[in-house]
Amino acid sequence: MAQALPSAAYTGRFAPTPSGPLHAGSLITALASYLDARAHQGRWHLRIEDIDTPRVVHGADQHIMQQLQALEMRWDAPPIWQSRRLRHYQAAFKQLEQAGSIYGCACTRAQLPPGPYPGICRDGLAAGTGPRAWRWRVPAGRVSFEDRWAGPQTQDVAQEVGDFILRRADGVWTYQLAVVVDDAAQHITHIVRGADLLDSTARQILLTQALGALPALTLHVPLLCDTQGYKLSKQNHAPALDLTHPLETLLSAWRALGFDASGINTLEAFWPYATQQWHQRFP
Ligand SMILES: [Zn+2]
Repeated sequence: MAQALPSAAYTGRFAPTPSGPLHAGSLITALASYLDARAHQGRWHLRIEDIDTPRVVHGADQHIMQQLQALEMRWDAPPIWQSRRLRHYQAAFKQLEQAGSIYGCACTRAQLPPGPYPGICRDGLAAGTGPRAWRWRVPAGRVSFEDRWAGPQTQDVAQEVGDFILRRADGVWTYQLAVVVDDAAQHITHIVRGADLLDSTARQILLTQALGALPALTLHVPLLCDTQGYKLSKQNHAPALDLTHPLETLLSAWRALGFDASGINTLEAFWPYATQQWHQRFP
């Protein structure tokens, strides 16, 4: 499979959904992606993934940026907001539509069995029904890639996921389409994000290739769980980050990534140390 060469120039990104401020879980992802960019003398972009409008909280984007700045994580280009890029998703969708790989789907959630989409609407809608969403015809075959944290991965997207939705019934572009379009537009070479997205990667590789772009290398960091084993998230009320003690806040994220931090007493010492340690582990 064609992938960006490790020796190619590095461009990474952090792409939070502004559904609330960063918490301990999302900070781990931010830190990992920032260190990976710095360790490879790369660029680090910030993208606000705010097209899933019901989840977006007004002002959370600004809050996230303030938190990153307080922790000394600085992006290298003006941030982009997905809500301002809808015409790019439309253009990509049109490109796929012209290739004959988009179809309307009339299925309601209640109609669908659990598991992969069984292709009910692939050959046209039943009489008297209209499209509720638009799906992409997934090409047959296995997708294999090497995740820099999780190792070799393989998925038969057509079999295991089925044709997936690019545009929802309410007109909203899905995450899968938007992320692929934006990663290509920002020339992202390295994606560092939470392990909950590992399962989306094969889908995104296929979609990226269908749009004529080169898939980025990926590194999926383990998710931080609470004491009951649930993923820490805004939805289950993870505590806010303590920005009055930025070093301690960064060190907890650093330790959660499995690194040692003994002897680090200042922010000035933390950044070069962590960057160098990260580079040793993920050259
Ligand atoms: Zn359907």
